[in-house]
Amino acid sequence: MDGGALAARLREEIKHEVAELGHVGLATVLVGDDPASEVYIRLKHKAADEAGIEAIDHRLPATTTEDELVELVQHLQKDDFVDGILVQTPLPDQIDEARVMLAIDPMKDVDGLHPFSAGQLYLGRPTLVPATPLGVMHLLDEYKIPIAGSRAVVVGRSSLVGKPMALLLLQANATVTICHSRTEDLARHTLDADLLVAAVGLPDVITADMVKQGATVIDVGITRTEAGLVGDVEEDVAEVATFLTPVPGGVGPMTIAALLGNAVRAARYRRGKLAFPRI
Ligand code: NAP
Repeated sequence: MDGGALAARLREEIKHEVAELGHVGLATVLVGDDPASEVYIRLKHKAADEAGIEAIDHRLPATTTEDELVELVQHLQKDDFVDGILVQTPLPDQIDEARVMLAIDPMKDVDGLHPFSAGQLYLGRPTLVPATPLGVMHLLDEYKIPIAGSRAVVVGRSSLVGKPMALLLLQANATVTICHSRTEDLARHTLDADLLVAAVGLPDVITADMVKQGATVIDVGITRTEAGLVGDVEEDVAEVATFLTPVPGGVGPMTIAALLGNAVRAARYRRGKLAFPRI
């Protein structure tokens, strides 16, 4: 499954939507100097620039306190130029991620990590959804992978990937199993999957003997090795699966495209062009 090609097309569409809106502003915040996070922020800014989204890059030192970060988020909240706020995770140990996410206005929450956004997804009325699982759903749609009635297994249960992935698949009427580090006999579950999503971060955690013949396999994992980026799925899985996402070039580019889509969605909410649920 070619995530790069679909992402390029979506980004082109987003460019037109941005032009129609006139302005879409995205603020990113990076705390510290984690090299992987630096790369992600750079890629997000490049893609935003190309789509005509005005992205502002805020960099804070690794020693930043929780209060200082919350203060910046609150400042961005009030800034009318900013439609979407993204605080890159992981954050340094002294900062409570949950408190920072709570400080983001749900209407500007382009990463979908505020409890309001997560709650809306849980209730089946999604507003802003984390970009990686959203990008996976676009990919499944593009390749016309049947979801309703299928058995989907998601390996990984993070708030950013695994849990929202499982909820989106449930909403699309799959029968969903969530596996994690405490799952006993992982293969027993994965072998049952028509659709298998691996979001672990351990190379080769999914081997060919764990995959049902003809399954669709989505490899979300990214691990940096000396040989380059690798996913969670062993190479031989290609011989068993009918559809498989490569790493790189599968879910990664879709994540970026979906993030830009979220920025446009946030701008629509803020301009009253799309109704946002309010009490
Ligand atoms: P995370 O927060 O570390 O979550 C990893 C999950 O995998 C946890 O739920 C963990 O279980 C589970 N797990 C760990 N070891 C396992 C094992 N041996 N068997 C089964 N499950 C196991 O990571 P994340 O943020 O969800 O990201 C997952 C991977 O996706 C990472 O490699 C990350 O770099 C990548 N990623 C890629 C993109 C992209 O755009 N392609 C975007 C985001 C993330 P517990 O909950 O029990 O600990």
